[in-house]
Amino acid sequence: MKDQYGREITYLRLSVTDLCNLRCVYCMPERGVEKLSHSDILSVEEIGELAQAAAELGITKLRLTGGEPLVRHGILDICRLVAQTSGIAETCLTTNGTLLTKSASASLNYAEALRECGVSRLNISLDTLDPERYAKLTRGGELKTALDGIEAARAAGFADIKINTVLISGVNEAEIRKLVELTRGTETRGELHVRFIEMMPIGEAAEWASERFLENSAVLRAVTELAPVGLDGVARLYRLPGATGTVGLISPISSHFCPDCNRVRVTSDGKLKPCLHSADEIPLRGLHGDDLLQAMRAAIFGKPQRHALGGKAISKSTRSMNAIGG
Ligand code: SAM
Ligand code: SF4
Repeated sequence: MKDQYGREITYLRLSVTDLCNLRCVYCMPERGVEKLSHSDILSVEEIGELAQAAAELGITKLRLTGGEPLVRHGILDICRLVAQTSGIAETCLTTNGTLLTKSASASLNYAEALRECGVSRLNISLDTLDPERYAKLTRGGELKTALDGIEAARAAGFADIKINTVLISGVNEAEIRKLVELTRGTETRGELHVRFIEMMPIGEAAEWASERFLENSAVLRAVTELAPVGLDGVARLYRLPGATGTVGLISPISSHFCPDCNRVRVTSDGKLKPCLHSADEIPLRGLHGDDLLQAMRAAIFGKPQRHALGGKAISKSTRSMNAIGG
């Protein structure tokens, strides 16, 4: 369906949990993460109902995210339900990748199980290729588990895996070329697509984003041979000569993409957020059938025209990224 500004809204990002096995410094506080009780978060059935209603309103792509979706109990049932929803053409999942090698059943690891449940695409977050820096950025994560996760996803048959990298000034800036080189692949493994994302002043990052913020143009300065090859949703795409994978620049701050925004979000406790950076949240829990459809329709129609980030402005959202579903 179209919103009040004529944008066709076709993409829903749905958070299945606020919890995470990592603590990335720009995303979650080190301690004191409030654990929602089981009854506070959407049940598997509620998520199924929401996906159905979203599809009826014209959503064709649904991304499961979090927190870390793979720590959510019942994640495979959720994936299966969403993937089987008539009208949802793409079921995607964003993960930090560290749990993809873990056993999901006697014979399948999580990467294989996700594929079997109908997940069509994976985005895996990786901000650095340096083990020490990874441990520091994630507050204790092990780089190898994320890299093994990427390999497990590939082995399970996921194609066009995207790596999400948040640019952080003075932290992973010097690694831009190395990360871009992942788009070439090697003799032993295929290429990846790398998406550089500008850090947004939200949640933890709201405190220090301005000094750590790095515009995406830094990627083009660091790797001058990148040639533009078009657009993919909100990402501007580039390619290294001879590489098969693409480099995408997602620039919510330096060139906000609000006029082309096609997405809305649902938090793990069932609030619809028409805009990531607005404080507006429309509660959906307890609504069913026509009531649910009507509430979602009104919320989507009322999506704000744009956010006001940039300069010194910080997000008006009262939640951190792990709580919204990044
Ligand atoms: N745990 C999963 C993961 O890390 O991929 C899914 C949830 S995480 C919140 C989704 C994405 O949001 C990650 O790629 C993460 O790097 C990004 N993210 C978190 N905080 C951010 C911020 N302040 N600015 C930009 N991206 C952010
Ligand atoms: Fe967890 Fe993802 Fe946030 Fe990192 S970015 S703390 S992995 S939810």
